[in-house]
Amino acid sequence: MANSELYKAGETGFILTMGEILVEIMAVELGQSFRRPGTLIGPYASGAPAIFIDQVAKTGSRCAMIGCVGDDDFGILNVERLRADGVDVSGITVIKTATTGSAFVTYRQNGERDFIFNIANSASGLLSVDNIPAGLLKECRHFHVMGSSLFSAGIVEAMKKVLETVKGQGGTISFDPNVRKEMLRIPDMRKALDFVLDYTDIFLPSGHEVTLLATASSEAGALEELFRRGVREVVVKRGKDGCSFHDGSTEIHRAAFSVDEIDPTGAGDCFGATYIACRSQGMEVEQALRYARASGAIAVTVKGPMEGTATRAELDEFIANTPEHNHA
Ligand code: ATP
Ligand code: MG
Repeated sequence: MANSELYKAGETGFILTMGEILVEIMAVELGQSFRRPGTLIGPYASGAPAIFIDQVAKTGSRCAMIGCVGDDDFGILNVERLRADGVDVSGITVIKTATTGSAFVTYRQNGERDFIFNIANSASGLLSVDNIPAGLLKECRHFHVMGSSLFSAGIVEAMKKVLETVKGQGGTISFDPNVRKEMLRIPDMRKALDFVLDYTDIFLPSGHEVTLLATASSEAGALEELFRRGVREVVVKRGKDGCSFHDGSTEIHRAAFSVDEIDPTGAGDCFGATYIACRSQGMEVEQALRYARASGAIAVTVKGPMEGTATRAELDEFIANTPEHNHA
């Protein structure tokens, strides 16, 4: 039975994440171009780490977020949303001279997304080691990194500090590369992703990201490299095709729940959050995967990046009432 000893059963665990907080503004029409005016909807609370930690709170784990917002309504929208859902927001700094980050997203006919990000020049871009509250860091038992957060030297330095401290005090690390094609243009992004991987206990890539940081070109080869580097669990997210769990000795492949996809944004963040929260609550792998798949499936049925987060009770109800796709 795959149930590695990453977490002691019953340990409630304080889960921490750090990174970008932003609002998302969405094109209403499929294939809508940003080269001419069109109808937009938003602002929606967003930022991959923010979505992640919102879902961790809703799954019932104690958690906190470190990040920066501007002194504006986009910041208030985010902070109040996280607070209402149960996240400790004491590590979110309001920077008077900056504005909250934003992202514009439009959906292509084939389901792909194109983004225009205003994050590097926002409050989130100013996040540094100075914004890390010592108290939160000391209490942290598990730290989650989103690769999308590693866009500035100051943030990478802050990440290094948290990674070293949390590992040093016996905590665990999860890592979702969450790479957007727009971000691989950032110099040193790959180097930073590689650095985080060296600290990673639980790796949560999308299918195409399994080989991203490996020398091997096959998934099996890349997985072997990951375990040699010290990763203990890999959960590969495959959208409507479900997910796979690997720990070097066990493989579990599970189908996705059968739902109509309205908006894929946030599915991976919710899936990862629910998996980490469930595991840190002492749940075994199979059950954590079930809750994680439910969380990802619910997320795609709701428009808006953070609008599809779900409570433990909502996850239970969904699992009881939704068929799973059959494997081909
Ligand atoms: P992103 O591209 O946003 O980073 P991701 O690759 O991190 O996404 P996905 O694989 O899209 O994450 O989604 C995570 C999980 O959510 C999947 O493994 C699956 O269990 C569930 N999921 C995603 N899309 C669907 C869908 N259309 N139907 C059912 N379940 C889904
Ligand atoms: Mg993702």
